[in-house]
Amino acid sequence: MTSSKKSSFEKKFFKTIGKYKLIEKNDKVVVALSGTSSATMLFLLKQIKGMEIFAITIDEEKKKTRYSKNIAKKFGVNHIIVKGNSEIHRRYILNKTARELVATKLAVGHSMDDECASIILSMCRGDFSRFQRLGPNPIIIKNKKFVPRIKPMIFFSEKEILNYAKKKIPLFKEKKAKSHREDIKKMINKIEKFHPGTKNSMIKFYERLMPMIISKAIKKINYCERCGEPTSRAICRICEISQN
Ligand SMILES: [Zn+2]
Repeated sequence: MTSSKKSSFEKKFFKTIGKYKLIEKNDKVVVALSGTSSATMLFLLKQIKGMEIFAITIDEEKKKTRYSKNIAKKFGVNHIIVKGNSEIHRRYILNKTARELVATKLAVGHSMDDECASIILSMCRGDFSRFQRLGPNPIIIKNKKFVPRIKPMIFFSEKEILNYAKKKIPLFKEKKAKSHREDIKKMINKIEKFHPGTKNSMIKFYERLMPMIISKAIKKINYCERCGEPTSRAICRICEISQN
C-alpha cells in the first residue's frame, strides 16, 4: 500500500501510459534526457515498479549535458552520453543507441507545445511523412532496427510541466534559438492566449486523424546502402550529408 496520493498531473500521466499502451510488461525504456520536460518524464517513469530504465543524452550543449548528468545521478539512472550535432543526427543516434541497449521503447519528452509545433511545421514544410509520425506512439512499420518512440508528455503544456516540475526536480532554463519551429511555437502561444484551449484541440484533432493516417502509412522500409540503418531512401540522410 502506498501512502502518497497522486496529483492530477501524475494521474493524467499514468492514464496516458495505459490508454495508449505506451509501456507494457517487460519493457526496457530508454529516456532521451535533455531539459526539464524529459527530466520530469524520467522522474515519473521511475515510479513504475520493476521496469528497466536508462537515459541517453546527446552532447550538443555543455549546460544541457551537465544538467542531464545531475538528473540521472539524482534519480540513480544509468546514463549514456553520445555525440551528435543536428536534428537528423539526433533521431538517428537515439534510435541506434537505444537499439544497442536492447531497449524496447525510446521515450522522448515532447510537450504539447512541441507536438503542436510539429503538426504545423510538417504542414509548413509540406512534409507528409513527418506528419504521419506524430502522436503519443507514432506507428512505424514494425522493424527490428527501429526502437518504437513514445511521447507520454504531449498532453501537457510546457507551463503545466514547469508548474509540476518546480516542486520536484531541478529545472533547466532553455535558451530559445531562432528557428522555424520557435516562430511557430510563438504564433501558437499567441493564438492560445486569445483562444484558450487551442493547443489541446490541435492534439485532439490529430488524435482523431490517426486511424486514417495509419491506414495510409507507407508499409515498406529500406536499409541504407552504406550504413545499413533503416531509411525511406536508398542512402540515408546521415550518409548523404557526411559524404559532402
Ligand atoms: Zn546510412
